[in-house]
Amino acid sequence: MTSIERVQAAIELRPPDRVPVDLHNFQPAAYATGLPMREVFRDGGLLAEAMLKAWREFGHDMILLENGTACNAQACGVEVIYRDDAAPATGKPRLRSLEEVSDLEVPDPYTTFPMSEILKATRILSKEIGDKVWICARADQGPMDLATQLRGMSELMTDIALGEQEELIHGLLDYARRVATRYAYALIECGGHSTSIGEPAAGPDLISPQHYRKYPWVHERKMAEELKEHGIILHNHICGNTGAITDDFIATGAQVLEVDHKTDPAKIKQAARHKTCLLGNIDTRLLTFGKPAEVEDACRELIEIWKPDSGFILGPGCAMGTETPAENIHALVESAKKYGAYAS
Ligand SMILES: [Zn+2]
Repeated sequence: MTSIERVQAAIELRPPDRVPVDLHNFQPAAYATGLPMREVFRDGGLLAEAMLKAWREFGHDMILLENGTACNAQACGVEVIYRDDAAPATGKPRLRSLEEVSDLEVPDPYTTFPMSEILKATRILSKEIGDKVWICARADQGPMDLATQLRGMSELMTDIALGEQEELIHGLLDYARRVATRYAYALIECGGHSTSIGEPAAGPDLISPQHYRKYPWVHERKMAEELKEHGIILHNHICGNTGAITDDFIATGAQVLEVDHKTDPAKIKQAARHKTCLLGNIDTRLLTFGKPAEVEDACRELIEIWKPDSGFILGPGCAMGTETPAENIHALVESAKKYGAYAS
């Protein structure tokens, strides 16, 4: 099987020849170029070059393409700070009140920085290696995450806790969903095989399972449904331990769930079996600080739990740290080949 066939089989819950492997490696890939990361993350050509170089070195089946968790926010006018040791970060929020969201337009990804640069990177990767490797061109961030960046994390958490402005909160989440959806269409038009939303702010580490179901879930599900109607595969990425929202996470309808290392692999496998594809969930700290043999052990153990009945892409549980050593990345990729074969 080719990498694309292998990933497609895993997502469609058919057995591939072996477990496919992804890398969530935009930070170490940018770092490895030797250029200032702030330049790589602002330039689609440099970003594509960095991802290509990493793919040539590691030969993973799926590329996760993004420039971090601030792209949509910046396109919507939020202040963003570019750094040299990590992904860009958002600064001051844009909205002083929930009402102000009605003044915002959904940005055109083709003409709005930095979405336009990520589209450029997608086009380059698609042209160069789009027939050899699965490109997940990420429409980060998801409804909840972008909402927190527009409104401010503590402000939105307070709005939710007070529970007095439900309609306006849904209005903000709906706007954020439309931003990500429009961007997702453009990424697929430029050659992405699938797309994703990152929802670090939607997990039980930050909001209660009840509030997850009441607010972000509604909009994540709507986005997954709309894209599915257009034949587009969506990944949903929620950071932290998602054990308390397992059934709702699956019920968003996203075809791939990106699972953090804090989530119990056996429990989520039991719930997701025959329903959805799991991607992850090797600890990114182990990948940064562990030894290759330890990475291999962790991969072997996870493969034992997640391989049965397909629906599994091996990879890190979240974005890999900037200084993840190459030998650990090799150990991750090679483990899928060594331990991940399906009986023919
Ligand atoms: Zn994460």
